[in-house]
Amino acid sequence: MIDLHTHTTASDGTDSPFALVKKALATGVKTLAITDHDSTAGWDEAITALQPQIELVLGSEISCLTTDGISVHMLGLLFDGENVAMQQILSDSRDTRIPRMRKMVELLRADGINISLDDVYAATPEGATVGRPHLADALVRNGVVAERDEAFLHLLSNESKYYVTHAAPTPVDAILAIRAAGGVAVIAHPFASRRGQIITTETFLDLCAAGLNGIEVHHRDQNAQERQTLTDIAHDLNLVITGASDYHGTGKLNAMAENTTDPEQWEALESQADARRVVRV
Ligand code: AMP
Ligand code: ZN
Ligand code: FE
Ligand code: FE
Repeated sequence: MIDLHTHTTASDGTDSPFALVKKALATGVKTLAITDHDSTAGWDEAITALQPQIELVLGSEISCLTTDGISVHMLGLLFDGENVAMQQILSDSRDTRIPRMRKMVELLRADGINISLDDVYAATPEGATVGRPHLADALVRNGVVAERDEAFLHLLSNESKYYVTHAAPTPVDAILAIRAAGGVAVIAHPFASRRGQIITTETFLDLCAAGLNGIEVHHRDQNAQERQTLTDIAHDLNLVITGASDYHGTGKLNAMAENTTDPEQWEALESQADARRVVRV
């Protein structure tokens, strides 16, 4: 089984990178990608957990914004982790997430909701990319909501009056940076409409021109019809089709390997990186 999209405590997952690899081993995953939001901080620890039965794909999920303000997540896989431009994009995003979180907390507090920035930091693992899930956990601890999911229903949704964006590259810029760093770019859950406005079918042409390699078709947030449309786009544009769990530990319902990538598709994707960077022991 091949699962190309998972999160750890290096962003908003609840398993450590070490525990993630152990979980994948226990689940029978043979090829696992670690793709924390805007970070490669979990890579080294994940490598230490490797066993001969599993191979590791190092990656990151980059939060992007189109020029129209639509949120897009771009998976970068198999890029050179020492590439300076790539690490700059990731660190710029992480840096602006701090004032962004301060602003969201201020807006919530102004409406009398019991939350402080310290509460959010207390709910954020050391070194993690801070995000709304940590704010959600802090709201749970303060008794404002019962669980993460409930916080995302209204208070923290993309449409909420408390929602604030952070600086982010455009999807085209993210693709260019990933490819320049030798990796491959796969657009994550492009039609996950429950999260907010989604890109149009025409947008894929621009992404393709920038060097997009694949589309994450099989993801729990896309229904059968959305998956069919994406499959058609992938065929038209000669893009790789992936499927993945977007596993977050106990932070989300997503079960590891609930969606997977076809081995032939993975082979095609891997061959488009500029070097063989899959990690094995
Ligand atoms: P942020 O990057 O800070 O804007 O937070 C967005 C992240 O929140 C997404 O990438 C998901 O991992 C997470 N998320 C979105 N919806 C939910 C939900 N209903 N429950 C838990 N986590 C969620
Ligand atoms: Zn996440
Ligand atoms: Fe995502
Ligand atoms: Fe994700």
